[in-house]
Amino acid sequence: MTLRSSLLAVARPLTTAAVAAAVRRGDLAGAVEAFASTPRKTAATYNCLLAGYARAPGRLADARHLFDRIPHPDVVSYNTLLSCHFANGDVDGARRLFSAMPVKDVASWNTMVSGLSKNGALEEAKAVFMAMPVRNAVSWNAMVAALACSGDMGAAEEWFRNAPGKEDAVLWTAMVSGYMDAGNVQKAMEFFEAMPMRNLVSWNAVVAGYVKNSHAGHALRVFKTMVEDAVVQPNASTLSSVLLGCSNLSSLGFGRQIHQWCMKLPLSRSVTVGTSLVSMYCKCGNLDDACKLFDEMHTKDIVAWNAMISGYAQHGNGGKAIKLFEKTKDEGVVPNWITFVAVLTACIHTGLCDFGIQIFQTMQEVYGIEPRVDHYSCMVDLLCRAGQLERAVDMMRSMPFEPHPSAYGTLLAACRVYKNLEFAEFAAGKLIEQHPQSAGAYVQLANIYAVANRWADVSRVRRWMKDNVVVKTPGYSWIEIKGIRHEFRSNDRLHPQLHLIHEKLDKLEELMKAMGYVPDLDFALHDVEESLKVQMLMRHSEKLAIAFGLISSPPGTTLRIFKNLRVCGDCHNAAKLITKIEDREIILRDTTRFHNFRGGHCSCGDYW
Ligand code: ZN
Ligand code: ZN
Repeated sequence: MTLRSSLLAVARPLTTAAVAAAVRRGDLAGAVEAFASTPRKTAATYNCLLAGYARAPGRLADARHLFDRIPHPDVVSYNTLLSCHFANGDVDGARRLFSAMPVKDVASWNTMVSGLSKNGALEEAKAVFMAMPVRNAVSWNAMVAALACSGDMGAAEEWFRNAPGKEDAVLWTAMVSGYMDAGNVQKAMEFFEAMPMRNLVSWNAVVAGYVKNSHAGHALRVFKTMVEDAVVQPNASTLSSVLLGCSNLSSLGFGRQIHQWCMKLPLSRSVTVGTSLVSMYCKCGNLDDACKLFDEMHTKDIVAWNAMISGYAQHGNGGKAIKLFEKTKDEGVVPNWITFVAVLTACIHTGLCDFGIQIFQTMQEVYGIEPRVDHYSCMVDLLCRAGQLERAVDMMRSMPFEPHPSAYGTLLAACRVYKNLEFAEFAAGKLIEQHPQSAGAYVQLANIYAVANRWADVSRVRRWMKDNVVVKTPGYSWIEIKGIRHEFRSNDRLHPQLHLIHEKLDKLEELMKAMGYVPDLDFALHDVEESLKVQMLMRHSEKLAIAFGLISSPPGTTLRIFKNLRVCGDCHNAAKLITKIEDREIILRDTTRFHNFRGGHCSCGDYW
């Protein structure tokens, strides 16, 4: 017992209300203390603490022990213990308790229905529902939500139609979330529009659903409506979704607006919101603001630490990421598997192969964390960068699951650097097998053959592409200037300042050539004339966005460019030189990683 609470206990005996309050705060230790200092314990006192155990994972034994001490357990005690069993995945224990219960009310049945369905026993849940003597709105909500969660929207809708009343926002929201999860945005919105009353949870379902379905722009608009029309007050979960939307759109401007708006609310001190802001700034390419915010956070859990460590790692600032990881030990934060993905990523970007291998062992031996597919992908990357292609391939063949496509991608990139045709064929073959219609692997393999002067193989790959009807996704890049997003296609003809952009690019081309730049025609289309090839290469979307950024922002400021595909090799080369010519930092995010160009180098070390 703490001094403060023991003084309180002397001054005024604690009551059931104090136990309940501590449980509501999520302060289980406080609840136990308050419970111990309550002199006359009723069944309600026991039930309150029991409810606390039901919310905390891994406390089933304590809950059982407490239950056995209740002099006269009532139906609420039984129901609470029942949900404890479900919360800990002990379905058998729940079944036994349910059949042994002396009295059951509608809440007992409802607990069985939702507990069974959440633990994957959907059919049994249905049977229990059918056997219920009386059903209320909660019973229907539980069943519809269970079906929607299982992805069977046809069945969910049928049950929804049969539900009586339908005035409950929970019931409707289950349908909205279900359709959003199933990727059917239109249906989800039909349900949302038709709702007789909406609450915060329904609004959150829409915002999160839009983000999940890559309609981040819509998510931001819905959020604006919520705030401007003061429909409902957003909570931490709304803000997390909408900030994730900003990250997906890489919209630093809107992210900043939300940040400013948050600062006016007590909510801004919550760990969840703080962490979402940190990762929004990281993903939008603004590491300085992320770091400042992280330092200012009052409390940090491992999720917050992970956001910052990954932020550094993804931006190629491996040293800082590793230092921050070391600091978790001093702060008494226990790293989890995500932390190790971030640290291994940091090792990759810093070229710390041996240290990475050591971390991989420490993770298993000291922290008892089983390596997941992401950890193996990092290890493959580390070994590839160290030129140990053979070891990388061995690891891919011996790992307990099918390697992630990105691991094959890394191997293929390494094969380009180390000119290893054998493994290139292996990696490209696997990638093409998984996505026969995506151009990336074919193009890379053809480039590797071309460098080795194996022209027959180059045309074989081209034919292969034709046979598989490979569609090239049109590439585009964008940059945000003064809050406005400017998008460029390759060979763009739409941007109003195209004339100035071309002028800038022509100047840059001259300066780059003086520095030894040779246009890399491997990345140009093959069926056009040589001079046209060079010209088209200079009009790639990445280069247009860079040139536009240079002429529309003050000297010395960092450019943040985004591309919907993997950055092309020639643009990568050009960007390196341009940072030197213009003395600017360029951050380019593509589908695989951040490229942080500075002083003629890229943080990826040319592996991507
Ligand atoms: Zn390019
Ligand atoms: Zn790079």
